[in-house]
Amino acid sequence: MLSVEEALERILAEITPLDKTHVALDAAQGLVLAENIVAHDNIPPFANSAMDGFALRSQDTHPVDGQLPRLLVTGGVAAGYVADHPVTKGTAMRIMTGAPIPAGADTVIQIELTRYDGPESTWVEVPQAVAPANNIRPAGEDMQVGQLVLTQGTEIGPWEVGILATLGYATVAVIRRPRVAILGTGDEIIDIDQPLRAGKIRNSNSYMLEAAVRRAGAEAHRLGVAHDTIESLRAKFREAATYDCILTSGGVSVGDFDLVKDVIAEQGNVSFWRINMRPGKPVAFGHIGGVPLLGLPGNPVSSAVTFELFGRPVLRKLQGHTRLHKPHIPVIVEDGVQDRAMRRHYVRAHVMWRDTHFVAHTTGNQGSNLMTSLVDANAFLVVPEGGVTVTPGDTVEAMMLDWPEV
Ligand code: AMP
Ligand code: MG
Repeated sequence: MLSVEEALERILAEITPLDKTHVALDAAQGLVLAENIVAHDNIPPFANSAMDGFALRSQDTHPVDGQLPRLLVTGGVAAGYVADHPVTKGTAMRIMTGAPIPAGADTVIQIELTRYDGPESTWVEVPQAVAPANNIRPAGEDMQVGQLVLTQGTEIGPWEVGILATLGYATVAVIRRPRVAILGTGDEIIDIDQPLRAGKIRNSNSYMLEAAVRRAGAEAHRLGVAHDTIESLRAKFREAATYDCILTSGGVSVGDFDLVKDVIAEQGNVSFWRINMRPGKPVAFGHIGGVPLLGLPGNPVSSAVTFELFGRPVLRKLQGHTRLHKPHIPVIVEDGVQDRAMRRHYVRAHVMWRDTHFVAHTTGNQGSNLMTSLVDANAFLVVPEGGVTVTPGDTVEAMMLDWPEV
């Protein structure tokens, strides 16, 4: 049996990021930059005021013969406009935050530190000397022409969007999102709008996986359900092979009708692994027509857990992400883990911060068919292989599903 780490390493070794494309900046969030971003403009583009106040010459702010300097106010400059005359000796100009510094001025005093006669005042008194460059944001203070600001491979989040916007990137080169085919299998599976009939269950996996694929930043396409026949699987796989990645659920264990691996082997290549974990021992990985395929187990919880462990890192790597692994942190398990497992056990739990440390509560009965064990689960407790007992108060590692990858 393979360990989870060995399986993941083998899978990721066969995944390469997709090609790049250009998207509008407002569609770039969550994607990975496929180009270095070099500033073509100085940011800010011009020296401007950091305060509402008066633009003046610092040498005019020193007392003369013990008298406070009183300067003539010759006009004002608002954000978005340029002063139509310079500041000359003995004069000042009203200035607003973000407005360009008028020629001749070398400093700004904030309005609260001056005395003047209302908004239309023709004079301003400066009670203390002002140093040069006060409250002036120089051109290029943030970014300079030619500066490398963001590197290829960076995940684009809101802050990167802001930087790209200020540099005028209306479109940006990114690694494109994978189009993921999701395939259910099994004669017992009916669609979710159908009434239940004898022997049938609704297709929860395809919908669950669709949502999980989207959460991983990829595009999900449900291709429906293949019957447990070679012909039906062949037809579905032919269609699926036109996508960037294929996820199947069911049909990979050792039952009479578990034909998925046979059909993949016929149409491409497959490694069929028993992984030393619970839930989700059987996982298949291979390629059909060069398209990576991950065959997840049918039991809904096994499907969910193996997607998080293997599927999500695959989809992230296809998107060019370099951070692929959820953080693992030590947590105190307040209720212990009831059932002991010889295989590595991924126990669904809710983890939260309490005072000085993280505590975990398991989410109840952990059967791999019990979807209710996923409710409120924001972590998997990683109980080591070998039938380890976890009693209340023990510390174990938790894989934090709702924390960003590291
Ligand atoms: P299998 O590996 O195909 O034998 O499936 C294992 C278990 O998962 C069986 O109880 C199936 O009925 C169930 N199962 C398989 N596919 C789905 C699905 N798409 N939605 C919900 N349950 C499923
Ligand atoms: Mg089946």
